[in-house]
Amino acid sequence: MKIGIIGSGYVGLVTGACLAHLGHIVTCVDQDVEKVRTLKNGKVPFYEPGLMEMVLENVAAKRLSFTHDITRIVNRCEVLFICVHTPSRANGGADLRFVEKVAKQIATHLRKYCLVVEKSTVPVETGEWVRRTIKRNVRSGVHFDVASNPEFLREGSAIHDFLQPDRIVIGVSSARAEKLLRKLYGSLKAPIIATDIKSAELIKHASNSFLSTKISFANALSRVCDAVGADVEKVTLGMGLDPRIGPQFLKAGIGFGGSCFPKDLSAFLHISEQLGVRFDILADVLRVNDTQREYFVRKILSEMRNLKGKTLGILGLVFKPDTDDMRSAPSIPIVQMLQKEGARIQAYDCQATAKCRALFREVTFTDDPYQAAKGAHAVAVLTEWKEFLNLDWKRLRRLMRSNFFFDGRNMFQPTEMKANGFRYVSVGRPA
Ligand code: NAD
Repeated sequence: MKIGIIGSGYVGLVTGACLAHLGHIVTCVDQDVEKVRTLKNGKVPFYEPGLMEMVLENVAAKRLSFTHDITRIVNRCEVLFICVHTPSRANGGADLRFVEKVAKQIATHLRKYCLVVEKSTVPVETGEWVRRTIKRNVRSGVHFDVASNPEFLREGSAIHDFLQPDRIVIGVSSARAEKLLRKLYGSLKAPIIATDIKSAELIKHASNSFLSTKISFANALSRVCDAVGADVEKVTLGMGLDPRIGPQFLKAGIGFGGSCFPKDLSAFLHISEQLGVRFDILADVLRVNDTQREYFVRKILSEMRNLKGKTLGILGLVFKPDTDDMRSAPSIPIVQMLQKEGARIQAYDCQATAKCRALFREVTFTDDPYQAAKGAHAVAVLTEWKEFLNLDWKRLRRLMRSNFFFDGRNMFQPTEMKANGFRYVSVGRPA
């Protein structure tokens, strides 16, 4: 099939490359001319394991191409995917300006039937609004359908998630749209959940909100564990083995970040309020998440008394491993709070140093974890990069000026870290 992808960021580019990998002819559009130039030069503008290779392979096979000019795809594709970003507005609602612009661009140039699919995460009823927007602006007599096909990929394992999804959700309002989407995904072995458009939109917001709820639950629980000297890792293990609960995402630490959970939760809360529904649990999930960063900094302060003139070595800055995406990373407020207390920060991240240089002020970035620890009074782990599992802790400890070790991800065993000479503090676990 001939497919157009509008918006070639994390979701658009992975979608485009994977659909090309499945044999479709895909053109990815982006309004960012520099991004398109980078892609045409055979480079991927962000880090995602395996993506570069897949892009190069499909470009070479002439199944994947790039342009910044949307007019070059509108009448050449059977299906157009909207994959633009949908950031938060100041009031928490989703900013749909980018979606609206694309809908109008499609409408202005459309001359024959096409299926327009919203893959961006959007509030319920956006599909209907997109349909009305296109209808208002399209030439009379031109037919089209709008569908919702939310994306569940996770950065860091995006290709695997796209090609081997747990489920494919398609929200449709016509048999023709359903047939096209079933054909598109026909070679993937995953259950297809076909619903109306609104239900599909809600599946995405509800899924992300539920996953965030599990994380905030574990974080609130970690504070109770700290208060009584219990071990949150053991408590969540004991809970998670119940198949009705499940172990995934029941993980205490410094809270969730990234480009999706915080923004999608806010957008879901906002649209619920607009619909007159009190979904207070969502506000609590956000509140626990925000305060968990302060909670972690307070733990550091209570151990070290004051941070004035002290050096902290930070290991990991991205919101999760295997990406270089710094959007809403918990490390951002944590580093700011530590600096406000007077700490000097030297930091190491496995992938995101270039992006971090533009984000953080007065932080020294190092080329390896040992340099980040050198001369530091304390080390704090903010991302659970696998690389950190195999560090030479005795060597790292020797490089430090003092022995405080704060594990914001509960990556290590307290007894082992103590044996390595650290005063080890994690989240919701006895010291
Ligand atoms: P992104 O910021 O990485 O990419 C969006 C791209 O759209 C940018 O490259 C931007 O230049 C481009 N764009 C904006 N307006 C355009 C226009 N008019 N024409 C052409 N290009 C345009 O965002 P992302 O992380 O890929 O997220 C996209 C959507 O997918 C969001 O709604 C997000 O919530 C959702 N989503 C993201 C993930 C994820 O892990 N990143 C997972 C699932 C769903």
